[in-house]
Amino acid sequence: MDAALTALAAGELVILPTETVYGLAADAGDPVAVARIFEAKGRPRFNPLIAHVADIADARPLARLDERALRLAQAFWPGALTLVAPSTDSAAVCDLARAGLDTVALRAPAHPLAQAVLRGFGRPVVAPSANRSGRPSPTTLADALTETGEFAAAALDGGPCAVGLESTVVSLLDGPPRLLRPGAVTRGEIEALLGPLAEAEADARRSPGRLTRHYAPAAPMRLDALEPRAGEAFLAFGAAPTGPAVFNLSERGDLAEAAARLFSLLRAADALRPSAIAVAPIPAAGLGEAINDRLRRAAGHVG
Ligand code: AMP
Ligand code: MG
Repeated sequence: MDAALTALAAGELVILPTETVYGLAADAGDPVAVARIFEAKGRPRFNPLIAHVADIADARPLARLDERALRLAQAFWPGALTLVAPSTDSAAVCDLARAGLDTVALRAPAHPLAQAVLRGFGRPVVAPSANRSGRPSPTTLADALTETGEFAAAALDGGPCAVGLESTVVSLLDGPPRLLRPGAVTRGEIEALLGPLAEAEADARRSPGRLTRHYAPAAPMRLDALEPRAGEAFLAFGAAPTGPAVFNLSERGDLAEAAARLFSLLRAADALRPSAIAVAPIPAAGLGEAINDRLRRAAGHVG
């Protein structure tokens, strides 16, 4: 923890566990440190980053949080929900971290190590997923170190991520609340508080998590497959025959378990260098919306 806090203060990068996925963290107010993140991820520069804070009190000075935003934060923070709101402090979350937008994305993560870092550091920390751009998010320290470990001055081991899927991103600007990225907090949970969510605008630059090929393994993907073909690895869901190239997201058909295992099993399947990764149909309801979104992006099917 001391090494992590010292590194952040020195403008260096830290691999940080959160309950969603492992992040590559930097001082949100230090443009050079933020630039190092883009370099480490090999990420297109127009992607804005999520600024992490310990709680609502720490978020208040950073953005104009309207009544809807506060209701969501009270219900889901700390947790896997990111709020996009008008930025009110362009120093604490620098222009590069916001990709020059006049809005800022904020989240209070629940993981105790992330909380300890944020409270110890006392300022917002940007922490995009610790993978190289376009690759599956790391959900264990080992995967994070493989992806971007060479760029980090310190790394914290928080165990496997409990949620395993990125946060839900909701924008609260003028007009109706918009779902920019489905994620671990479901559409239904948010709509129960705010009423119907509008869809994200078609402009992908407003929410680069929506880029077409994203979270992608090296092997091509074949979705909604009922069984694997010769040479394929298979991501099963629910009761399925076992085999050396079969990885079951959840034998009991539990979407939360499937979300938590999705990225690590995608990596395990990809490591076999199969001709393709076939994936069983995943139900669309609840967490299934975010799981299917990530699978379609990994397959390059969303545009
Ligand atoms: P990542 O940190 O890799 O999980 O991705 C961050 C997500 O938050 C992406 O989908 C971004 O597009 C989204 N995001 C961050 N800041 C903003 C913003 N100011 N406006 C809209 N989306 C944002
Ligand atoms: Mg990411």
